[in-house]
Amino acid sequence: MTKQFETVCAHLLHQCKNVDVISDELIVALHNVFQSNMVVEAAKLVDEKKIQSLMSESGRHIFKVKGSNEKWYMVSSSSFYCSCPSFTFQFLKKKSSYLCKHVLATFLYKGDVTTVTNEELTLFLMSCFDS
Ligand SMILES: [Zn+2]
Repeated sequence: MTKQFETVCAHLLHQCKNVDVISDELIVALHNVFQSNMVVEAAKLVDEKKIQSLMSESGRHIFKVKGSNEKWYMVSSSSFYCSCPSFTFQFLKKKSSYLCKHVLATFLYKGDVTTVTNEELTLFLMSCFDS
């Protein structure tokens, strides 16, 4: 990954976040930048309602995204972090990918934000790191 590639990715994701409806042009641009099926799989997660946007009472915001193994992962779209194994392997260890489909899906998500208690958020976060 080059610095230029990262800049293009960040620019496209920023655009996704700042529009109400993601245009076909933007989808095509994302598809050209990210690995073959990633945009399709991320869009599928949104369509199948496998994303929840959670805000704790104290203002902490995270996304909960359901993986293909039915396990929920924690995604922080502000830091491009996901608790899934693919993110750890592809991004942290091999440094071969900019993000996983779960992180990308949070940029495509335009749904509601659910308010949860601090305790509910903590319990969810702990469940993400139980192996
Ligand atoms: Zn992930």
